[in-house]
Amino acid sequence: MANHNSHHSMRSLLQTNAFVDGHWIPLEQRFQVLNPATGEVLADVADGDATLTERAIDAAHKALPSWRAKTPKQRAELLLRWYQAMLDNKQALAELMSAEQGKPIAEAAGEIEYGASFVAWFAGEAERSYGDVLPTQNSGQRAWIIKQGVGVCAAITPWNFPNAMITRKVAPALAAGCTMVVKPPQLTPLSALALAQLASEVGIPDGVLNIVPSSQAKEVGQVLTSHPLVRKLSFTGSTNVGKLLMQQAAESVKKVSLELGGNAPFIVFDDADLDLAVTQLLACKFRNAGQTCISANRVLVQDAVLPKFTEKLQQAVSQLKVGPGDQADIDYGPLINQAAIDKVQKLLNDATAAGAKLLTGGKVLDNLGPLFFAPTVLSGVTSMMAISQEEIFGPVIAIQSFTDENEGIRLANDTPFGLAGYFCASDYARIIRVSEQLECGMLGVNAGAISHAYNAFGGIKESGIGREGSRYGLAEYQETKTITLGGIK
Ligand code: ADP
Repeated sequence: MANHNSHHSMRSLLQTNAFVDGHWIPLEQRFQVLNPATGEVLADVADGDATLTERAIDAAHKALPSWRAKTPKQRAELLLRWYQAMLDNKQALAELMSAEQGKPIAEAAGEIEYGASFVAWFAGEAERSYGDVLPTQNSGQRAWIIKQGVGVCAAITPWNFPNAMITRKVAPALAAGCTMVVKPPQLTPLSALALAQLASEVGIPDGVLNIVPSSQAKEVGQVLTSHPLVRKLSFTGSTNVGKLLMQQAAESVKKVSLELGGNAPFIVFDDADLDLAVTQLLACKFRNAGQTCISANRVLVQDAVLPKFTEKLQQAVSQLKVGPGDQADIDYGPLINQAAIDKVQKLLNDATAAGAKLLTGGKVLDNLGPLFFAPTVLSGVTSMMAISQEEIFGPVIAIQSFTDENEGIRLANDTPFGLAGYFCASDYARIIRVSEQLECGMLGVNAGAISHAYNAFGGIKESGIGREGSRYGLAEYQETKTITLGGIK
């Protein structure tokens, strides 16, 4: 029975079983989900395996004909109900996300709005999926192109945005008339299961959206990339896993969308408004404690403004407040796990051993707990250091200096990655020159927050294939079919 006005508490949105064909499936094998702020066990979740994955794919396949037969408007109406249910339950969803992921509740609520915005966006796009009429060379023929949903889709998503990384894949898939199987991250499956609960409550039909939580990513990924009924895989995660999945999907020539790692430059030129540069860098860097793939990884500052910029930056960083996600007025919470702390610490040790200077932070905030890391600023970084080549994924600003515009651009592009890039400048000609030369899929100019449903999110080079959001996002879930009609006299 569709009930699209329900308001839930965090408790009533806490599902711990897999969701397949409209049913909650308990499994004997379970895995634990921990609260990273406290280390306490939040839930024991059903551990989906290859068999359950196959069951989910079959359910998605069974649901496909009637879902695809709905008009775009009918699908849009259901998506809009889902959107509304997310907003109605924003607080409960945010509390649940904060508990399993660690980000401040206010930031989590922002992610719920952001995640929901993809659902509204693609509900709209569903109705604007135009084809083409072709000018034929044969007077006895007419030809046109239609767009059709690819079929059963699979999504594999990461833990840093437990809601939005799912909605930005599921919404366009469902809008296009596809059905879906999602394998959410082992660390944050609860937000995914809550989304499925709301989808079910608003009347999205059984089998259209299936969730297979699992600690056995490799096994589930193997089925999703090899099963003949799956036509498309959308993945967000690390570059190494993305490459592996692309190879696996090649065997049956599945369409793939990949949103992989980044190594975003954030360039501060000598004509930049330095106060604006500092606020935008902070917004970009400390969101989710630096655990985002579009986080500024390399901060490149032109020599002439380095001392002044560094001073302003340190002043701003000293104001940041760290704490558990359920505490009001904090800027960021714990990192996701011990491995994340170890990685940040290792990159810092490597950089300082090679001559970088720690200006502030650089340590675990033991009084808060083992996963809280101090806001950190490091200067004198060079391109050779691991911290310039790997994703830091933590609250560390690594500053490197450069002398002129060309050197800034060269350093920025000196990476196999090309997801986001940022720069701050005032001169309009420079803004045009640099915008056109930076190698990335998304660019923020005097702007550190660039994620919106209307933007085309995605990378170039080894950062990925395809775009999410925007008017291009729907096409990732569609095939283009040309129809030629002859015999016209
Ligand atoms: P992150 O560092 O963000 O966790 P990963 O690429 O390891 O990045 O994880 C992103 C998603 O990919 C998660 O849902 C994870 O479970 C999944 N994953 C990891 N390894 C594999 C694999 N071999 N096959 C399929 N999925 C995988």
